[in-house]
Amino acid sequence: MTGPILPGAVVGVLGGGQLGRMFTLAARRMGYRVDVFAPEDSTPAGQIAFREIRAPYDDLEAVERFARGVEVVTFEFENVPSATVETAARHAPVRPAGSLLHTTQNRLREKGALGVHGVPVAAYAEVNGVEDVASAAAEVGFPAVLKTASWGYDGKGQRRVADEAELRAAVGELDGETAVLEAFVPFVAELSVVGARGLAGDVALYEPVLNRHVNHILDVTLCPAPVPRPVRDAAQELARRVLERFEVVGVLCVEMFLLEDDSLLVNELAPRPHNSGHITIDAHPVCQFEQQVRAVCGLPLGSPRRHAPAAAMVNLLGDLWERGTPNWAAALRDPLAHLHLYAKSGPRPGRKMGHLAVTADTLEDAEARALAARRALLTTPEEAAWTGR
Ligand code: AMP
Repeated sequence: MTGPILPGAVVGVLGGGQLGRMFTLAARRMGYRVDVFAPEDSTPAGQIAFREIRAPYDDLEAVERFARGVEVVTFEFENVPSATVETAARHAPVRPAGSLLHTTQNRLREKGALGVHGVPVAAYAEVNGVEDVASAAAEVGFPAVLKTASWGYDGKGQRRVADEAELRAAVGELDGETAVLEAFVPFVAELSVVGARGLAGDVALYEPVLNRHVNHILDVTLCPAPVPRPVRDAAQELARRVLERFEVVGVLCVEMFLLEDDSLLVNELAPRPHNSGHITIDAHPVCQFEQQVRAVCGLPLGSPRRHAPAAAMVNLLGDLWERGTPNWAAALRDPLAHLHLYAKSGPRPGRKMGHLAVTADTLEDAEARALAARRALLTTPEEAAWTGR
């Protein structure tokens, strides 16, 4: 095995979004150069990269030129075509491997692989058309959630169905696209664990965090998740199992449902840093992005231990711009609030524009402050007279 890829080297990132931006910040801080490959110009990551290569993912000649110029390729956007990853892999190691990406790009492949490795998932069935409706309904029951097998994230391509008639109608609208029918899980909470695995097989796991979604999009993350120790340990064990069995080199997030009886079901995997892991930038000595740099460059992993007693993260969606530019100064009147903005030009509703993170002595205080800071964004300068803290 060759040695680690050391600072000064060029690291390549497929995808130019906020995950690539925060990866690039971590890599540049450590002295790496970063080349970003993305189909758009002036992307959040490209703005701070050493070089931004603008080309479609299926321009394989451009992918080849990009991969020749870097020592390792990683990605921040997981719906990169397989041919892109295969082309890149001929010229530089791709970490995590394209085979993992291939598995996680399709919900059926992902659930199948999780099952093989003994990781519990909700009951599910494959649906290729209306002819599968009766058998899938019998296998899974109702209520259920119909999800397209590919290209789904943040609730896109998914629909809750209450009975067979609704399922039939929803399947009819799929246009022949393969889907998965999943039992609706009556979860008491959603948790996620971000972990990293290095080239030598070493694993570093962050504690589980608790996630609340609005319209299927992550809204609030609380760190650590306020769950009993056995749940925390079980969640970390599931993440360790996934990292080891899938032989991940890089960072991966396991999203889970916590049930009433304290058992856990895995909802999905993200083979990259995750929105719920952004809290590690402010609450941990080594964040998920530095961990990704270390893992893909073959360096030792950093400590995943939290240094703040508690922390909360709230997402900032484009909706906050509806009445004009948010009142940044008002949010930052809380001296414990950290503002992270991704420098995206078009604040559309539902688009992730940034996040606020607060570290505090208690989870309640961290959450209250993060929510208050976000509410303050919507105040006019006159309304924002701060009472002091
Ligand atoms: P996904 O795109 O699979 O990550 O789903 C987005 C969100 O939809 C999840 O975080 C849950 O809040 C909800 N969801 C997805 N699948 C289910 C399910 N089988 N049962 C209950 N809620 C679900």
